[in-house]
Amino acid sequence: AKEEGRGRCCVYDPAMDAEREERNQLEIDLRRAIEQNEIMVAFQPVVDAQHLKLRGVEALARWTRAGHGPVRPDIFIPVAERSGLIDQLGLCVLRTACEALVRWPHLTLSVNISPGQFRDPSFVGRVADLLRDTGTEPSRVTLEMTETYFIQNPARARETLDRLKAIGVKIALDDFGAGFSSVGYLRQFGFDRMKIDRSLVSAADAGGRAVDMLQATVALARSLDIPVTAEGIESADQATALRIAGCDQLQGYLFGKPMPACEIDILNGEEPLA
Ligand code: C2E
Ligand code: CA
Ligand code: CA
Ligand code: CA
Repeated sequence: AKEEGRGRCCVYDPAMDAEREERNQLEIDLRRAIEQNEIMVAFQPVVDAQHLKLRGVEALARWTRAGHGPVRPDIFIPVAERSGLIDQLGLCVLRTACEALVRWPHLTLSVNISPGQFRDPSFVGRVADLLRDTGTEPSRVTLEMTETYFIQNPARARETLDRLKAIGVKIALDDFGAGFSSVGYLRQFGFDRMKIDRSLVSAADAGGRAVDMLQATVALARSLDIPVTAEGIESADQATALRIAGCDQLQGYLFGKPMPACEIDILNGEEPLA
């Protein structure tokens, strides 16, 4: 398909210019926001499936663009990835989250890592420095990765993964069931946790095949001794189904949306979140 595109002309479309212009401006604004520390971090509760009590948080980047309002991570993370800003943005989120974690000695922390960060040879060293600087116990931190990089670059991914494990952080395979999610990768890389994608969780509401698929997926991970977190739990029925299927952790709006650190402070109690 690449060859077909080469040397071809396109119809002039002024909307294309406007689009490119908007993309450039988005990147300029994002760069400035990162430099001026305007990227915020929200924390979403993660509960244990047994008692539905708060056990950890997932850090999620938040950006309010001056003059535009909030921009969704699904929009600005890809911009950061394309423009080489993701290393800086990702480490900034990790640092902010580790600093907040000091206030929650009983909780664990998950942080999302883009393939671009993983690819950077200095990444592991920077994570180690950051954990040391913030006094964070590495085993309390899980880095969440999607399978893309593992598929594209298995040998190098493996090497980086081993180096991360050597400094003591945990690695979770994020969004499992959203893409092609091959079982082979689960085994090969020795992930510490698997996160079942929200699409798989909500599809199971309809019953039938999707329920079987969900159960089989969790059973598969468990047969490899990989603990499973279910994401995007919105109803008590889903929570029950996923606990019975064998997930040990649950996450979703039912227990709490991503929220500022001060609201996590208030949740610190021992009551179930749903
Ligand atoms: P993710 O890592 O899969 O994070 C879970 C997303 O699902 C979050 O969206 C969260 O708000 C949303 N969510 C959680 N529970 C529910 C639920 O019950 N129902 C529904 N409808 N949604 C739920 P968010 O914060 O918009 O983030 C979207 C994606 O952007 C994340 O997906 C992650 O891939 C990426 N992202 C966010 N922050 C970062 C970051 O700091 N670094 C990197 N590399 N990626 C990030
Ligand atoms: Ca995630
Ligand atoms: Ca996810
Ligand atoms: Ca996702």
